[in-house]
Order: sequence, then C-alpha cells, then structure tokens
Amino acid sequence: MNNVSHIPSYLSAEHLGPWETFLVQVDRVEPHLSPDLRKLTPILTRPMRALIVNVPIRLDNGEMGHFEGYRVQHNLARGPGKGGIRFHPDVTLAEVMALSAWMTVKNAVVNVPFGGAKGGVRVDPRQLSIAELERLTRRYTSEIHILLGQDKDVPAPDINTNEQTMAWIMDTYSMNEGRTAMSVVTGKPISLGGSLGRKDATGRGVFVATVEAARHISLELSGARVAVQGFGNVGEAAARLFSNAGAKIVAIQDSTGAIVNPAGLDVRAVKAWRHEHGTLQGAPGAESVSTDDFWQMETDVLIAAAMENQITAANAGHIRTRIITEGANGPTTPEADLILQERGITVIPDVLANAGGVTVSYFEWVQDISAFFWTEDEINARLDRIMREAFAAVWDSAQAKGIPLRTAAFVLGCERVLLAHKVRGLYP
Ligand code: NAD
Repeated sequence: MNNVSHIPSYLSAEHLGPWETFLVQVDRVEPHLSPDLRKLTPILTRPMRALIVNVPIRLDNGEMGHFEGYRVQHNLARGPGKGGIRFHPDVTLAEVMALSAWMTVKNAVVNVPFGGAKGGVRVDPRQLSIAELERLTRRYTSEIHILLGQDKDVPAPDINTNEQTMAWIMDTYSMNEGRTAMSVVTGKPISLGGSLGRKDATGRGVFVATVEAARHISLELSGARVAVQGFGNVGEAAARLFSNAGAKIVAIQDSTGAIVNPAGLDVRAVKAWRHEHGTLQGAPGAESVSTDDFWQMETDVLIAAAMENQITAANAGHIRTRIITEGANGPTTPEADLILQERGITVIPDVLANAGGVTVSYFEWVQDISAFFWTEDEINARLDRIMREAFAAVWDSAQAKGIPLRTAAFVLGCERVLLAHKVRGLYP
C-alpha cells in the first residue's frame, strides 16, 4: 500500500509539508514488518485526534488578538500522549501532525510508556510582552484542557517555550481542576516538581548514543575529533560531555558563525564568551571559518544539534567524518541520507539520538506521580541504561536486516506501537 496517497481531507495538498515526509517513512518501514503488523500500518497514517483552537487574548494595548493553536494526539496505544508545545509563526497543523507522529516513534524506540502528541500556537512570541505570553499560554491551556491529564496527554517545552511556560500550563490546569496537578506537564522548574538532570538530558543522550556507536566501529573517543553544529541546550551539553570524556571539540557552528581549533576548543570558555558577547566570533583560542569550511573539516564525530535540513545534498558529499549524531530533529534531508549511506558514514537518527530529553521527561512524570524525587546520579544512571538498551536494539536490528540505523529505529518504534494495537484489538 502506498501511504503517501493518504491525505486527510482537512489538509490541502499544498499544506502537506512534513506530514508527507512521515508518510514516506512509514512506506519505507512496511517491507520490514511481519505481515500481521503490516496490515495495521494505516493506523499510523492518520492522527488519532487533532484539535484546532482559537486563542483570543487581551493585548497590552486593550485590543483583542487571535491566535490559532493545535494539539494533536497521533497515537495513544502505548500510553498517554507526550510531546512538546511550540510557539512559532510557521506552526501549521501538518507540522504538528508530523511532529506528533515522530514522538510516537521516538517514545516507542526508547520504550517509555507514552504515545505521541505535539502542540503548537501560530504566533511570533517576540512580538508579545511577557504578560501577553502568559495570557496566551493560559488561554491555550484552557482550550486544550479536555485533552490533558497525567494519564491522557502530558505536554513539555519545545521551540520558544520553556520551564516558565510549563509552570503556567501546570497552574492553569490545576486551577481549573481545583487541585495541584504537577504530573500534567514536564520540563517544569525544579521548585514545581521538575526533574534534576533534565537540562542536560538530550545532550547526554546524544553523548551516550555516540559512545555506543563508536564502540561498534572501533573508534576511540579519547582524543577523537568532534565538531558540533548548534551550541544551545543540546549542542553545548553534548560538547561539554565529549570534552570531559577526553575528546577534542575541534569545531563549533551556531547561528553567529563557525569557529575551529584543531588542538581542541575550551567548551566552557567558548560558552562564557558566547554568553557575554552574543557571538562565537573572537572566542578564546578559536579561529573563525566559513560554514563551508566547517562542513569540510576532517573529524571523527559530527553532532548536528541546530535545526532541520542542515545536512543536504549540497554538503553531504564533502563531510569527512565517521559518525553523525542527530541531536536536532530532522537535520538530514532524505537525499543527503542516501549520500551519507553510500559513503559509509554511520548516522545515528534523531528518534534515537535525541530521545534523552523525553526519557528524563518520563522520569519527571514518574517522580511527580509517586511524589518521590531521585538524585541526579540515579537519573543519569537510568538515562544511560535506557539509551544504551535502545541503541543496542536499533543497532542489532540494522545489522540483522542489513538496513540503515534510521530505518531500523523506525521499524523498531512502529513494531512496538503496532504490536500494542494488535494485542489490544479493535474496539468495538
Ligand atoms: P537551542 O535554541 O537551545 O539551540 C539551537 C542552536 O542552534 C543555537 O546555538 C543556535 O545558534 C543554533 N542555530 C540556529 N540556527 C542555526 C543555523 N542556521 N546554523 C547554525 N546554527 C544554528 O535549541 P535546542 O534545545 O538545543 O534544540 C536544538 C535541536 O534539538 C532542535 O532541532 C530541537 O528540536 C532538538 N531537540 C531538542 C531537545 C531538547 O531537549 N532541547 C530534545 C529533542 C530534540
């Protein structure tokens, strides 16, 4: 069956966007599924629920503003919905649908008991004051309240939302329920039931997955040359952990440019410089280079932790590295993927590599429900174990089936979801 032919009536063809990419990915998974699971794949090609809401708010100037919001629950077969909330002017229903579907796969790959969900509001948050943003968050939460709950759907931060946003969501939901409901949302401040270790969790997962891949291809990480694209939450934490493990961070690129030092950059000094000066340019011990030079630099590991569509058909042929780890969501285009595959570069796909964040979100939810909080050492040890187990499952399946890690991760995730459907059966 060709899933790409399945376009829901509420999406016009020109607004299909990333949802079509997801359907192509499901098509690629199908041949590797057992016949009994294969016949269930049409379930994955439709979101279970998609809620579109109007979010009217009082602006500071007394006028009323209207914003469109979404919450999509792609699949709840394995547990409550889990996935972030994004505030961005380009948010569309198709994008939120695709992001929710990728959460379904990601949560299944790391085997946390969640389904996939995602939310978003079509807004440029830079145009709003803090008070307006709070009103927007609270009204949006009220509008999607019917979907939320610790055993129904548990949001988290995404682009342009943070722990303050999550605190507002938790408070709004709690006020409407008449009780304090910490476990309705994750990524909260520590003072409100947030988890230790959440901030570094995605970077840490990136690091652990790369350590495992390096072991399989006999790459010694001590002294290895590592380049990092994106020096934010994910990229900075990953760079720090690689550096602590004895690797050399030879190049860093962010939205302000690229810097290199073949002898290794001092990650903490670069972070301090970036914080103080707002740019990587001029960081201590660093030479500025063009972004083309960044991609062509010879390294052992390349961490893509900035944004989507960074490794394309235009630069994939020039990248000289052994492992690419996708800290970002969707940094490699499908065309680039084929080029990297032909060149024998190991690509650790996003649904595996950046799952450390949702894993510690799962820990936060567990801690809130049990009202018992763990130490950071316990959290890191449990995160490392989950990442190692997920990596091993994906690696072994890729070897056994002779397929790329990305396809293997999607097959593993989809198998787990479809198996849940199979044993649950079809209601009524
Ligand atoms: P962030 O905003 O903290 O950092 C993003 C970094 O990318 C910044 O250093 C920015 O300068 C850089 N960047 C932006 N545009 C760039 C460009 N065109 N070229 C080079 N660099 C550019 O974001 P983050 O939380 O670190 O997230 C990074 C990626 O990881 C995103 O794709 C996000 O969806 C994904 N991700 C994040 C988490 C998480 O826990 N934060 C979890 C899973 C996936």
